[in-house]
Amino acid sequence: MASITLNHIDKTYDDGYHAISDVNLDIEDGEFVILVGPSGSGKSTLLRMIVGLEDITDGELLIGGRRVNEAAPKDRNLAMVFQNYALYPHLTVYENIAFPLRLVRDGKPSDEEIDRKVRDAARVLELTDHLERKPGNLSGGQRQRVAMGRAIVREADAFLFDEPLSNLDAKLRGQMRAEISQLQRRLATTSVYVTHDQTEAMTLGDRVAVLKKGVLQQVASPRELYEQP
Ligand code: ADP
Ligand code: ADP
Repeated sequence: MASITLNHIDKTYDDGYHAISDVNLDIEDGEFVILVGPSGSGKSTLLRMIVGLEDITDGELLIGGRRVNEAAPKDRNLAMVFQNYALYPHLTVYENIAFPLRLVRDGKPSDEEIDRKVRDAARVLELTDHLERKPGNLSGGQRQRVAMGRAIVREADAFLFDEPLSNLDAKLRGQMRAEISQLQRRLATTSVYVTHDQTEAMTLGDRVAVLKKGVLQQVASPRELYEQP
């Protein structure tokens, strides 16, 4: 895991739209930060800049203390957990989780190593009984966990979540919220989690960062936010 530091981050899109203004944020190694804000406030833009899917116009982005502004997404060692899961429907759960390890070019892990990592991740995520199934036969929550398994085996420096629960019904969302919270405590992964859900914001994170019109309004613990007048 690694820290993520945003120093005076600015984003102006090609059409001149100034989406992010002078954002400063220090995310500690192992910290879970929730990014909230109204639609259009720049949450996705910020997340996409951290992952490397969007150029940073100005400022500096550090991962584990290393400047990565110019690094390609694959050189940032971050794992994005999308709301649509992005699983391969024709592969089993086992192969979906193993997938990133099979792509490693330098120092490719052996089949035994891959097997151990996949089974370790499956155990943490309580997917051991589902390894031979295909994603189409899984519940939304189980699919979400497979997506997280893929991030875990990659031993990414950080997880980035883009509204991962927004497609789920209320019951499953509650269940997944509890699961993510538990996992976070067990794995202590550095995480940035975008949501517009108040409950997720107030229960999941160590700190909540509030974005409005591209400006970071405040960064505080859920307790501090709750207690403020
Ligand atoms: P959020 O995730 O908080 O809903 P976004 O980061 O998606 O916000 O968008 C922030 C602002 O940037 C919005 O006004 C949006 O219209 C604008 N925006 C997003 N992508 C582009 C783009 N490719 N070109 C121009 N403007 C964009
Ligand atoms: P990286 O860590 O380099 O982004 P990924 O495992 O995310 O590697 O993806 C490796 C390749 O597989 C990329 O070309 C990506 O576009 C493709 N890929 C990843 N997930 C899927 C998916 N669910 N369906 C189709 N292609 C995918």
